[in-house]
Amino acid sequence: MPGPMHGFGRGYLTEEEKANRPKVTWPLLKRVFSWLAPYKFQMLLVIMAIFVSSVFSLMPSVLTGRIIDEGLIGRDLNALIRLILLSLAVTLGANLIGVFESYLNTWIAQHITFDMRNQMYRHLQEMSQRFFTTNNQGDIITRMTSDIDGVQRTITNTLTDILRNAITLIVAVTVMYRQNPILATVGILIIPLFTIPTRSAGRTRWSLTREAQAASDEINGILNETLSVSGQQLVKLFGKEKYEYDRYEAANRRMIDLNIKESMAGRWFRVVITTFSSIGPMLLYLVGGILMMKYDSDLTVGDITVLVALLGRMYGPVNQLLNIQVDWIRSMALFKRLFEYFDMPAEIRNADDAVVPAEESEGCVEFRHVDFSYNPERQILKNVTFNLESGRCIAIVGPSGSGKSTLINLIPRMYDVTGGEVLFDGTDVRKLDLAWLRQNIGIVSQETYLFNGTIRENLLYAKPDATEEEIIEACKKANIYDFVQKQELGLDCVVGNRGLKLSGGEKQRISIARVLLKDPALLIFDEATSSLDSISEAKIQEAIDPLIEARTSILIAHRLSTILHADEILVLKDGEIVERGVHEELVKKGGVYTELYETQFRQALDAVREAGTGYPEAYGPSDVY
Ligand code: ATP
Repeated sequence: MPGPMHGFGRGYLTEEEKANRPKVTWPLLKRVFSWLAPYKFQMLLVIMAIFVSSVFSLMPSVLTGRIIDEGLIGRDLNALIRLILLSLAVTLGANLIGVFESYLNTWIAQHITFDMRNQMYRHLQEMSQRFFTTNNQGDIITRMTSDIDGVQRTITNTLTDILRNAITLIVAVTVMYRQNPILATVGILIIPLFTIPTRSAGRTRWSLTREAQAASDEINGILNETLSVSGQQLVKLFGKEKYEYDRYEAANRRMIDLNIKESMAGRWFRVVITTFSSIGPMLLYLVGGILMMKYDSDLTVGDITVLVALLGRMYGPVNQLLNIQVDWIRSMALFKRLFEYFDMPAEIRNADDAVVPAEESEGCVEFRHVDFSYNPERQILKNVTFNLESGRCIAIVGPSGSGKSTLINLIPRMYDVTGGEVLFDGTDVRKLDLAWLRQNIGIVSQETYLFNGTIRENLLYAKPDATEEEIIEACKKANIYDFVQKQELGLDCVVGNRGLKLSGGEKQRISIARVLLKDPALLIFDEATSSLDSISEAKIQEAIDPLIEARTSILIAHRLSTILHADEILVLKDGEIVERGVHEELVKKGGVYTELYETQFRQALDAVREAGTGYPEAYGPSDVY
């Protein structure tokens, strides 16, 4: 009798789940059902299919009574064959309808999750940079994958299980009462007899399983920590071998004790189930027999058999319905979590009356008393004011953490200012069409990101309709073409984890080629602080120089050679522009710039000199160094 086993696998709510049990409110339910709304018609068909298949699958139990009374006891071979065939036919029918129902069910669930995934992805695309820096990437991916898969399970299992079990129970109880009200009442009173022990035995076993799992996790933790290269080194250097061994042995012993207990609990669980589930039918036979023999001569052997069979069919649904509360709470918690994600507002949005300027962009940037902070506790930029005219170049220098990257992120609206304004081509960036604004800004960042595709695919990302000549031209300008030619597959070799490993310098040059294809009015170049050797640096320099000459640009510079290109240098310290001017003036001031020059630039310069590469003429007047 498989019935009582049903539902065991669902487990029980953990303490944490109980504490975080979501409040099921009407708006929440309405919102859950709004996802089902587009599939109303299909849902209706599913409900009908569940109803018919539940009724059909109970029919053989009812027919058994007639098989016994009319066929066997009545000795009517024709009726016997007819009833047997009918019983087989309804079983087949119930199963075929079941197949149809599963198909429809899966179809609906897949389509709902399809809608949900797409909508979530679109929503996430709209989220600002802040969202991605403050949320753990793992959490975001979990929302997109396993949480939405959970929704699918809710629809294919939880909702249909509730329906199927409820319908089966209602039909079974109705038939039982029609068959014999007294026996039906006895049958229903018996139900707690098997559900209560089954549930408590199940709970014990479940908590043991969880404890064993925790012990096994602990063992894995110890193994991972102590059997790694650095872990072992630590153990050896501190002479902790015995300590670690004892810790491991204790955890290991706890696990075997729990495993033995769990295994025995499983065995006892089966004993409880088989014992209690056989008591039910026996009681029905007893009461039925007494009724038949002493009080109610109409009651037949077939009737009693039907009641016993129907009772057997009720075990599963009763148990599942009792357990469904767990699924229900988990599902609601899941929906709530997803809806919370959906409800996060997009911080950076296109203004309703956003403008797309008619004339071509010149890439001019103006900062007017700009303040910015990531969070209220700490202001990052303070009263930053500067003006970058068309075709000119500004270099921003400053100690690490002074706010240089933050400053440039305000131009393409990765973040919005908290005070003052940023103007692009004379208009506040918040009033410009976001797509237009970003189209006109090209950033070569320190941490170059390439998608895991071919070099060509990465370049085409900037301009999908670029011709072969344009791509090659961009590669040549970015000083990466020689490298590409040396690759077996040329532009079609794969970058990233699956294929070619690129150095930081090569990646940055590919990203320069990518920006070249984009051909923006304003170029922002965030120079790498470290990790590049002087040859790579020189190659990048060679690529970037003509670019800067040709357009309006902002450079976050760490190297003197780059700085010397600029028409104006802004020195940023703790988010404030503390000095500004050209190299010759600044270096003589004896302030922050001079200090930076002495420590950073000079070393870099010496390194370039030693390597014998670089562009001495670019370093300006020789009296400077
Ligand atoms: P580096 O030269 O090292 O790249 P930087 O001058 O570009 O430094 P920023 O990256 O602009 O400096 O950072 C300025 C300050 O803002 C730092 O103190 C940093 O810790 C903080 N900061 C940067 N990004 C965030 C963020 N997403 N959330 C909160 N604080 C941030």
